[in-house]
Amino acid sequence: MAIKFLPLGGAEEIGANCYYVNISGVGIILDCGIHPQKTGTEALPAFDLITDKQLDHVLISHAHQDHLGALPFLIKLHPYLRITTTPQTRALAEVTLHNTISILKEQVPKTDKLDVYTHEEIDLLIRSINYKSYNEDFEVSGYSYRDEKIKVQFFDAGHILGAAGILLESGGKKIFYTGDIDIDNQELIPGADLPDTKIDTLILETTYGSTDSSSILKWHEESQRFASLVNKILNDGGSVLVPVFSLGKMQELLTTIWNLMCSGKMTQTEIYTGGVARKISRIYDYNRYSVRSINPELEISNIPQNDLYEATQPGNFFKNPCIVLASSGMMIEGTASYNLARHWIKQSKSAIFTVGYMEASTPGYKFANAKKGGRIQLNEFTSEEIKCSIENFRFPSHSRREGLLEIVHKLHPENVILVHGEPESISWIGAEIIKSYKSTKVYVAKLGYEIVF
Ligand SMILES: [Zn+2]
Repeated sequence: MAIKFLPLGGAEEIGANCYYVNISGVGIILDCGIHPQKTGTEALPAFDLITDKQLDHVLISHAHQDHLGALPFLIKLHPYLRITTTPQTRALAEVTLHNTISILKEQVPKTDKLDVYTHEEIDLLIRSINYKSYNEDFEVSGYSYRDEKIKVQFFDAGHILGAAGILLESGGKKIFYTGDIDIDNQELIPGADLPDTKIDTLILETTYGSTDSSSILKWHEESQRFASLVNKILNDGGSVLVPVFSLGKMQELLTTIWNLMCSGKMTQTEIYTGGVARKISRIYDYNRYSVRSINPELEISNIPQNDLYEATQPGNFFKNPCIVLASSGMMIEGTASYNLARHWIKQSKSAIFTVGYMEASTPGYKFANAKKGGRIQLNEFTSEEIKCSIENFRFPSHSRREGLLEIVHKLHPENVILVHGEPESISWIGAEIIKSYKSTKVYVAKLGYEIVF
């Protein structure tokens, strides 16, 4: 059995994650993401690399934009591709893809030839997506190689609602793609469930490969630290801005804050949320008994929340000390968290609390590394004084680097392909695997370079 692996994006970076795998003539695309820091055609995976390839299926690991956002563009090019994901990812995809249309239209430079899709196209696309639950066996076959059947199974990857690790099996060989994976519990989503079998080829994400895990506390410990610093700001009459991704981090942090308030560890105060995050929270609620959940009794939509949009209208601007959860997580220019942070830095009693990974080229990285009393340079012309406090927290939804090695240990693969990480992260994980598992071959995914087994 011949296996070919070709990265179209998400190689040596966290970008437009998209990988082409050909197993005995059947062409499968794993994920189809859009690059969060790029715009227009530049943000898409390198679809030109698969123009003359056998293309049969797309399997989507989860609904974050860097794994899903380019799917409508791929389907425009190859309308006959069959798509399968989990039912939860399908439901989340419907909300997030509709939501990104206006954002994409705004971002695409006038000179770019990228044709942004319509709401009608998304409706048709969502209807065409097949869905399979976790641990349910199904088969995919090719248009040209109909006798060649690839067995597929989704495994709960933790990370966010509906996230799946994808197991592919053919001719006795097993390939496992982790997608984004977290083996530890968060506040809502339990740690990943891994296949209980030896894997031949592991395609492993490496987000936290370069991060020393001693800088990441357990979720519970970090939430205690978060509560005590929030209390300090609120008691001084300030407000706390928390930049979050609207899918995943928003629901986890809102639940964390609510649980802290209910247990008396955090001062009861107004919480602001808004936009697409509320629709996403309803999908979490709707699925709370159909997937593994830490507390299925809790409905996120029932947590008292004020509307962020109303609070930012002239004359209404946050009158009382409060906690504001606003997207985007990496504070991309023009988003709610970025715009609010520009206001927040002028308020000496208030604070910005970052809660997740910040990619080095993003405004979020600049805010996270700024200090009260210092200055921040958001564009080449002006720098602004920071009057508010800034604190950084880690509430990870990806495995720490030891967790990634635990996955390797458990699945005992002959080959590991490292994806979805900065070069330093890939180097650290790669070196550790080579040190500990002498018989395991380690490959670094490189854009456009095919790996053949
Ligand atoms: Zn993700």
